[in-house]
Amino acid sequence: MRIAAALLRWYDGAKRDLPWRRETSAYRTLVSEAMAQQTTLAVVVPYFQRFLARFPTLQALAEAPDEEVMAHWSGLGYYARARNLRRAALAAVSEHGGALPRTEEALRRLPGVGPYTAAAVASIAFGARTFALDGNGARVLARLFAVEDSIDRAATRTRLRALGTAEVPADRPGDFNQAVMELGALVCTPRRPRCQACPVAPACAGRARGLTVDLPRRAPKPARPVVRVACALVTDGARLLL
Ligand code: SF4
Repeated sequence: MRIAAALLRWYDGAKRDLPWRRETSAYRTLVSEAMAQQTTLAVVVPYFQRFLARFPTLQALAEAPDEEVMAHWSGLGYYARARNLRRAALAAVSEHGGALPRTEEALRRLPGVGPYTAAAVASIAFGARTFALDGNGARVLARLFAVEDSIDRAATRTRLRALGTAEVPADRPGDFNQAVMELGALVCTPRRPRCQACPVAPACAGRARGLTVDLPRRAPKPARPVVRVACALVTDGARLLL
């Protein structure tokens, strides 16, 4: 648990002040995780505050008209997230007595809740000892354990999840997951990891082997197909045939 202890000590001093960390609940965690997918936190925070002011509970979200939910998401993009969030609230109300289910497996059955979000909510809100593996977490773990296989492979992600889960401490699983996310966002960044400021640098196998900038490895992108097309523009005075 050397990694967890060092990481949590750093997280307690370095974590950013975010509205869903000030006051926590399973619902707030679910909304924040849905909003933060593919979106920077600076953009998410005001949306999160407006959304929670209008839909403070799962029930309020489930009872709201679809158009109003979409209006509060307008500008955040990836609108399927908003539709799924409302559908998840409806399912929680109709199937789970108005609360989010507490296990990772049951959370995964909610609309739009994938493995990462289910693990994040289960660990942060319900204390489940599980690892939430997203792109940030995969990068950090691939470096920390010098995993050289492509993180695009399902087998590599399974391995990374197992490595991460083995480090999750029983007493603070949610904080551990948030600490990994925070480390990936602030220190172990994609291009230039700041290893000199990293709390887990002494335990980092990637750093010890000089691999930090080479990891994580990705599968080569397939070559872009070249498609040749022909088109004609036929004019006849002011008339145009396309
Ligand atoms: Fe990432 Fe560097 Fe820390 Fe290793 S030492 S986890 S590469 S920031």
